[in-house]
Amino acid sequence: MTLTPAQQLAATDRAHIIHPYLPGTAEERVVMTEGKGCRLTDAEGRSYLDATGGLWLAQVGHGRKEIADVAHAQMQQLEYFTSFWEFSNDKAIQLAERLATLAPDNLNHVYFTSGGSEGNEAAIKMARYYHHRRGEGSRTWILARDKAYHGIGYGGGSATGFPVYHEGFAPMMPHVSHLTPPWPYRTELYGGADPTDFLIAELEGRIAEIGASNIAAMIGEPIMGVGGMLVPPADYWPRVREVLDRHGILLIFDEVVTAYGRVGEWFAAQHFDVKPDIITTAKGITSGYTPLGALLVSDEVTEALLQDHGFPMGYTYNGHPVAAAVALANLDIIERENLLSRAVTMGEYLHAQLTDALGDLPIVGEIRSVGMMLAVELVADRETRTPLPMNPARMPHDVIRRETGVIVRDSAHSLVLSPPLIMTEQEAKEAATAMRSVLERTTPAGDITK
Ligand code: PMP
Repeated sequence: MTLTPAQQLAATDRAHIIHPYLPGTAEERVVMTEGKGCRLTDAEGRSYLDATGGLWLAQVGHGRKEIADVAHAQMQQLEYFTSFWEFSNDKAIQLAERLATLAPDNLNHVYFTSGGSEGNEAAIKMARYYHHRRGEGSRTWILARDKAYHGIGYGGGSATGFPVYHEGFAPMMPHVSHLTPPWPYRTELYGGADPTDFLIAELEGRIAEIGASNIAAMIGEPIMGVGGMLVPPADYWPRVREVLDRHGILLIFDEVVTAYGRVGEWFAAQHFDVKPDIITTAKGITSGYTPLGALLVSDEVTEALLQDHGFPMGYTYNGHPVAAAVALANLDIIERENLLSRAVTMGEYLHAQLTDALGDLPIVGEIRSVGMMLAVELVADRETRTPLPMNPARMPHDVIRRETGVIVRDSAHSLVLSPPLIMTEQEAKEAATAMRSVLERTTPAGDITK
């Protein structure tokens, strides 16, 4: 039997690529070959609507020639040199200055990485090192939350709050303590109390148990992405910040998903009006055109890190000039096309479309969003809010993609969307209609009929 070129690619993929989160027995491959705007095309010529922005990062959409031209020019000019020691490059300098201008006013220093996991490793090490340098080396504990996702390093991976990411990788990093996540829809988590009151009391209690003088930092996603786009009450972060300040504990915001326009501001810290000590970013900084991450670090933390022999850790690709040039071009587009305000208006429009299309379905428990981060939480029963059982062989998001070509993602019993910020109204309608076509056939037992 001769294989078509598309079948050949899939067979070669099965033979040679280890995919994250894909069992070896899985036959199906979706081999993307082209992207333009919110659309993707696979090797068989089938078209898709990218309602997840890849892995939540394609802010300016696919196929921007302007960014490709910048990368091409930069590779001809200077493809790479190190940023260790006294070495630097013009594009990394320009990008760092620009990020410092966009970030909350206490964050004026940038430490570059290649992605979010590297960023959280650096942030956790910075927090410990900051205290070490200030003579408080006992501050080693990291507070995190259940349902958090902080990447796959040992530090960030240990702060991640899903047992499945730890199983088989033990021992994880010691001195990490997980708190309850802010998830107002799940009132049962708070025993009838106001969620913020409950969470602040828990935080105070945990600090007392561990001892403030043993705690370096709390790390948190301002809106929890992998946990299912969990939006905290408006007073949660300001009150957490107040408690941490009182105990000399640093606040690390993991904004790998939420930065660069996704929630309608440059950073979610601005949305929640809090000033973290360190913000981890990646993804949307280049819209995925090249790998890049950037930590934004406060003046106070930086001052401690730069004492003596400086901060003793570096990645080969710190401040990569091609990635930095690409990021500058990407930020130009976000600014020129007003994508921050577009994230707000399109996010509201998409939210309204989802409500129209899905609001009457008994398996839809809650539709929530901030900007272009949206989730549809699925339940077996609206009264009890029992999570919808899922059949791993036939998950709603897989069926939606196979039947309609619309790509959404499953996150902890929610279907989540984080489309390019340039999504059109027509595309928003298409996504909502596609989701309805499958969810209206999904039973409270999690089976999809037909
Ligand atoms: N933090 C958060 C909040 C994330 O969502 C992710 C990735 N989805 C990461 C960290 C890890 O980033 P990366 O995959 O670039 O290492």
